[in-house]
Amino acid sequence: MNERNQRTIRRPIQFSGVTIFTNHEIHVRLLPADENTGIRFQRRDLPYLKPIPARIENAVFRHRRTAIEAGGASVEMIEHVMAALAGLQIDNCLVQLDGPEMPGLDGSCLALVDGILAAGIVEQSTKAARLSIQQAVDVADDSASIQIEPPRDSDAKTTIGYSLDYGEESPIAAGSLEMEITPQTFADEIAAARTFVLESEVNAMRAHGYGKLLTSRDLLVFGPNGVIDNKLRWSDECIRHKILDCIGDLALIGCELHGKVTASQSGHALNRELVRAIQSSHSEASWVKAA
Ligand SMILES: [Zn+2]
Repeated sequence: MNERNQRTIRRPIQFSGVTIFTNHEIHVRLLPADENTGIRFQRRDLPYLKPIPARIENAVFRHRRTAIEAGGASVEMIEHVMAALAGLQIDNCLVQLDGPEMPGLDGSCLALVDGILAAGIVEQSTKAARLSIQQAVDVADDSASIQIEPPRDSDAKTTIGYSLDYGEESPIAAGSLEMEITPQTFADEIAAARTFVLESEVNAMRAHGYGKLLTSRDLLVFGPNGVIDNKLRWSDECIRHKILDCIGDLALIGCELHGKVTASQSGHALNRELVRAIQSSHSEASWVKAA
């Protein structure tokens, strides 16, 4: 199997935006990082805090998002920047932000991917670590499941199939999609897919004081008759976004992951459970470490 070298970004990238859950305007910098340092998040508003490695060991339970925590502080909603970095095979990057949550941008990671591609990607001199799945691992709850099996063939390193069905009454269309994930397919087919919520969920969030800075243009909001004040980029944009979330969450394993993922209705909590199950079922020997 082809090995590749570790990669980082060529130049710093800056962006800002409002958050989905907490009510902040956040400024973010993505900085090039040394080999073997991985993806780390640093709270610039808490300068005494060390950067937090974006690894499953630091993941904490949250509803409908992924967060990491260390030293008494957390970084919320890391999944979309994690997806952008994993999707483009960036192994080392320091993400600095001046508050507790990554901005939602347009609900997708398109701006991040465009920013990274414009800044450029540099190859480093050390080989990238990877984990190639040796035996199937699956996790499930009452309504959702996700499993990963050994890669189907040596050429297809990572494939993700996702199926979604919220029932006939739902304004979100049921369907499924499977694709091989490469930097090219990620940038072209996944990166622009936006996160979505039901109008009733937005109202409930607002009642609890969340999402005050958001408008229906900052993500996809579905009312009973479909998407409100917005236009879908693909008819199956929601499924594509679920694949984006899977990529971001599975990146918490801390290296490139080769395998065939099949998911049904899976969300962040179950995705994280899969990462933990992979970690405990695959011995050190099945990891190809950075060398
Ligand atoms: Zn998402």
